[in-house]
Amino acid sequence: MTEAERDSDPVIVELEGVEKTYMQGKIEVHALRGIDLEVRRGEFMALTGPSGSGKTTALNIIGALDTPSKGRAFVEGRDLSTMSRGELSRMRRDKIGFVFQAYNLVPVLTAFENAEMVVRLQGADAGERRERVMALLKEVGLEGMENRRPNELSGGQQQRVAIARAIASNPVVTLADEPTANVDSVTAEMLLTVMETLNRERGVTFIFSTHDERVMARARRIVRLVDGKIVSDERRE
Ligand code: ADP
Ligand code: MG
Repeated sequence: MTEAERDSDPVIVELEGVEKTYMQGKIEVHALRGIDLEVRRGEFMALTGPSGSGKTTALNIIGALDTPSKGRAFVEGRDLSTMSRGELSRMRRDKIGFVFQAYNLVPVLTAFENAEMVVRLQGADAGERRERVMALLKEVGLEGMENRRPNELSGGQQQRVAIARAIASNPVVTLADEPTANVDSVTAEMLLTVMETLNRERGVTFIFSTHDERVMARARRIVRLVDGKIVSDERRE
């Protein structure tokens, strides 16, 4: 991709002077100290940095799970701070895909039912849901495992279900907070391949955090945080 092509893709996520301060007892913790970031449609971006550098806080702010103490966050040009609680929850449902470190699947539901959950909330009819979710489960490599419950799946397979769930609703951006932290390195490589394929073939925009060098190496853009500040922002072709 040339620079001109890249710049023609719309900016879908923007942070502008974002600061976040938490109180830990009487102590102020500056989790983010002035973050400016633009993410365009189609990016495959890693957010990296040591433990405590602010990766989770940044993802939570982009996903409207947390709010800045200062500065503003935009998704598709909309300032999240101006949105009502109802608008924010609809935005999370319709625009953001979430993949968590601990998979967060519902134990009593099957792989299919877990993957279907967000689409169901969106109110798609049963036939359409089934078609879309079955196709996605196949794409992430879970064909034939649709009726298994999470405890009948490996960690890597559970995370594949979580990825399918996150993108089934066709979000604008998919956020993955250390998605490979709980799996071995071979499984981590496979999950990255799944994400890469979805990015390339379906244009799914991913922002994932990691401190694993090997996972980081698969990103096309690496934004590095140290002590709540961006210290580097590198792109590769
Ligand atoms: P990372 O994901 O890079 O490990 P975090 O965003 O989780 O970093 O944390 C950044 C800093 O903010 C850390 O010092 C952490 O202890 C602090 N922090 C994060 N969340 C909270 C919270 N809910 N309350 C208090 N401090 C927090
Ligand atoms: Mg974290």
